[in-house]
Amino acid sequence: MTSATLRSSTSLIETPKAYEALLERIRDAHLLGSTEAILTWDQETMMPPGGVELRSRQVAILARLQHQLSTHPAVGELIAQCESDKSFIGSHSIESANVREIRRDYDRAVKLPERLMSEFAEVSSKGQHEWAAARKASDFKRFLPWLEKLVKLNREKASCLGVPSGGEAWDALADTFEPGCTAATVTKVFTPLRTRLVKLLGELMGSARRPSNRFNELALPIEAQARFVRMVVESIGFDFQRGRLDSSTHPFCGGSHCDDVRLTTRYSEACVNDALGSSMHEAGHGMYEQGLPACAIGTPAGLAESLGIHESQSRLWENQVGRGLPFWKWCAPKLADYFGQSVGGFSTTELYGAANVVEPGFIRVDADEATYNMHVMVRFDLERLLISGALEPKDLPGEWNRKYKDYLNLTVPDDRRGCLQDVHWSMGAFGYFPTYTLGTLYSAQFYDAAKRAMPGLEDGFAQGEFKPLLGWLNREIHAHGRRYLPEELCVRVTGAPLSAEPYLNYLEGKLRPLYCA
Ligand code: ZN
Repeated sequence: MTSATLRSSTSLIETPKAYEALLERIRDAHLLGSTEAILTWDQETMMPPGGVELRSRQVAILARLQHQLSTHPAVGELIAQCESDKSFIGSHSIESANVREIRRDYDRAVKLPERLMSEFAEVSSKGQHEWAAARKASDFKRFLPWLEKLVKLNREKASCLGVPSGGEAWDALADTFEPGCTAATVTKVFTPLRTRLVKLLGELMGSARRPSNRFNELALPIEAQARFVRMVVESIGFDFQRGRLDSSTHPFCGGSHCDDVRLTTRYSEACVNDALGSSMHEAGHGMYEQGLPACAIGTPAGLAESLGIHESQSRLWENQVGRGLPFWKWCAPKLADYFGQSVGGFSTTELYGAANVVEPGFIRVDADEATYNMHVMVRFDLERLLISGALEPKDLPGEWNRKYKDYLNLTVPDDRRGCLQDVHWSMGAFGYFPTYTLGTLYSAQFYDAAKRAMPGLEDGFAQGEFKPLLGWLNREIHAHGRRYLPEELCVRVTGAPLSAEPYLNYLEGKLRPLYCA
């Protein structure tokens, strides 16, 4: 749709004005939200511990003002006016997608009382701070009162949003992160996925041959690791003129808009692959944000699609690229520049193998590709139980540990490596975890499509040429913002709806040869 076509019909004259007025209000609300995002980034990276009390109030007032702006009755009237014009609904034009998505956000926001949103922001800000301290001390009791508050607030939120017919409270929360996601649809994907992953894991663990873990046990100075991962992140295409990389307890990608993207990572002296994996992962999120159209900042067309699509971008760079042989052909000769002689004895094959060692472990963010989704499945089961009320927060550690025994045959030694490891619940984010597995599945399907579109793509990686892939992702996915729904985007980009097949084929095709399984 262009302004010329709009002007050609007198009946439409008022609608473009309403549309512009609507976007202005939405952009203002987004400005407040993006300011809150910078304060949250600051809290996680720079803020001294003493700042937490006032910071939680700063975040809460911004959340309240944003909620007021986005739920103002005038917004509802403007949306209705746009919807009354057929040219603003039903097509995939930027305008109709904006109206559709603003309607979706508005309908959800007006169901949530301002008091609840403000309390939610304050409790999750403080809860996150308490979680960090509790995790450090492996002290679940310290976090328990906050978890209880956050579960209660989430149950209240779900009841305000309304449980879909035939569904459960968890569905209302998950829909925030992945439109249309329900526990039933997730279960349908997870159940067969688990069966095939368990089979693969059994084959790999039973194999007499396995890749060497020697590189993952090599202590390397953190300062050198930081320079190395920055070089990798820059080489794959993250733009440091429009972004930063810092460290935090839990790696994340934040920031305020496409020209100011804040990545964080974390370092372990014992294993550079930890920092490399989490940095490439967050850079994948960051390059998605940087690839969103600047002209549409603050409107749905300029915002990232669902979290599942977001996660597909991070996991694609972390796994399909960063754990691939072509990447290591490029990366291996560079290691000596950063770590000197200590890395001299490693062949490219050994480094590639080390990036793909499969070993059931306690920590989700450090997990290999074969076990990663099991970690997600445990969390999905538990948060469903917490939200339904079938599991009391105080019983979380016991149930967590029981599930780790069941899914990964591991005995969790303490809560730091157990139920306190992830930041999500302390931020009040329930219904979020399954998007990690959905994103993993999307990543493999998108990557297959990229390889079909660009024969020789991986040969380029071995030469350090990552631009063709980033350019393709920019065009096919990033540029569209929220123009298409996730399933529409998937069909548009790959020619097929989401399926676990490409991921399982990719994983089995890579790991079986490495293990001779
Ligand atoms: Zn991620």
